[in-house]
Amino acid sequence: MEMQLNRRTFLGSAAATGTGSLLGMLGLTLSPAVARAQGRASSYRPSKLTTTICPYCAVGCGAVVACEEVDGKRVVTNIEGDPDHPINEGALCPKGASIRQLSDNEKRLKKVLYRAPGAEEFVEKDWGWAAKEIAKRIKKTRDESFTLKNAKGETVNRTTAIASVGSAALDNEECWLYQKFLRGIGLVYIEHQARI
Ligand code: SF4
Repeated sequence: MEMQLNRRTFLGSAAATGTGSLLGMLGLTLSPAVARAQGRASSYRPSKLTTTICPYCAVGCGAVVACEEVDGKRVVTNIEGDPDHPINEGALCPKGASIRQLSDNEKRLKKVLYRAPGAEEFVEKDWGWAAKEIAKRIKKTRDESFTLKNAKGETVNRTTAIASVGSAALDNEECWLYQKFLRGIGLVYIEHQARI
């Protein structure tokens, strides 16, 4: 016979039978649940699988990236949680589950766009121009602001005129190289998206 439960009979049943029995009647259990992703091996069999770390936040979940050759180019066809990774054991949050969009996204900017001071329009520039322009501006600001010693006469070798915030799209190794570079030129204001 199908059991009809309203709020009154639910509370009465809970008191009379105990919560565990009631959950059993409802087909539920208090036993620890095993996450569905745990221990799950992917059934997807692409031409190449590579493990990586999700770049979006400080949790550092492991992911498996699948690639295929399409028209002579290697493209990312799937990214899913790494079941062997000790942090996430195969799970990814929605943000991590979408990291394929970092490599395959028609809205992603792939060219340098520059808007000069006072200009209204962006103009397309090449990467060589952009790299030289950034280097030139960093050097100028650093040269003008570099401090060898602080007010107590202690050696500091720093600039406080340049700061860095970034980046959500860098992996561990890229972050390590990037902060080495920043500290090497004297930056002390160094932040990362994961800490904000
Ligand atoms: S999958 Fe989600 S929780 Fe894990 S590192 Fe990426 S953003 Fe953070």
